[in-house]
Amino acid sequence: MEKEIQQANTSLDFYNMKAARIEDQLRFCSDQVQKLGEERFQKSVSLENTQKRLSDMRRSSHQAKESLEDSQFKIERSRAALLELQIEIERERFKKKRIEEELEVARRKVVLLQAKTEGNSMIERLQEELREYREILKCSICLDRPKEVVITKCYHLFCNPCVHKVTENRHRKCPVCAASFGANDVKPVYI
Ligand SMILES: [Zn+2]
Ligand SMILES: [Zn+2]
Repeated sequence: MEKEIQQANTSLDFYNMKAARIEDQLRFCSDQVQKLGEERFQKSVSLENTQKRLSDMRRSSHQAKESLEDSQFKIERSRAALLELQIEIERERFKKKRIEEELEVARRKVVLLQAKTEGNSMIERLQEELREYREILKCSICLDRPKEVVITKCYHLFCNPCVHKVTENRHRKCPVCAASFGANDVKPVYI
């Protein structure tokens, strides 16, 4: 009986010891669980922060994309405006060239007209001179035939037929100055 009690005591000690070890292990486990819980909390906070940062980045990336698109649109518009401006400049250049060509044609016309005017005035001058020479060379009575004879009393010149008509009269007088002359006063001249 005593032996049985001793055995039971030993067994109780063993179980007590085991229970103490299990309690230790349980405490350790509960510590671990608490630690894990804290870690989990920290991680969830960190995850939340990361998610928030990610969302911020996503937003700023979206804004950057929008701004880039806006810039690209502006660039496209500027390019179109530039192209239009270049076309306009080209058109203006063409117009200027046409005007310069027209101006050159007009300038040439002016030169031609000036030459023509000068030519006309020269022709008029020559006609005037021709008239003067004709008056000098043609008979002053008929204004048609050349001067062929001279009345040596006054030295006036006439054509032969006109003087012949005068010499048929009794009173022979020069048709220009009315000087009397005889048949022998009429002499041929060679101009
Ligand atoms: Zn005559
Ligand atoms: Zn005369």
